[in-house]
Amino acid sequence: MPNRAVIIDNETRCIVGKGHNTQVQENHPYNHGETAAIRDAGPIDFSRITLLTSLSPCEVCASLLDMRGFSRVVVGDVTNASGTEALLSAKGVKVDVLEDSMGIAFVCTISPGITLINS
Ligand SMILES: [Zn+2]
Repeated sequence: MPNRAVIIDNETRCIVGKGHNTQVQENHPYNHGETAAIRDAGPIDFSRITLLTSLSPCEVCASLLDMRGFSRVVVGDVTNASGTEALLSAKGVKVDVLEDSMGIAFVCTISPGITLINS
């Protein structure tokens, strides 16, 4: 299941990190789109940052987003993966869900019949 994430500075609107999941390619269970983007961004103040992710973050990534102090998370698709929006909101993270129809259709097209492993 492909998952991509982009990290944007709220003030400058510049991309400061990006990544995609590589659990299969690198044989590592926590190489998710969100963790890759956070690694790419490096040691910055995440309280001034928005993370955009193609699928709902898994519980590991949601905990990392809370620990790093993200102020906002934008989720593209909760049809193919959902579950942590309420958890993030309860921790004070602003969560916006886009439910992008093209993104939902894309995941369904490239992953027909695949059992979802939320990443
Ligand atoms: Zn994850």
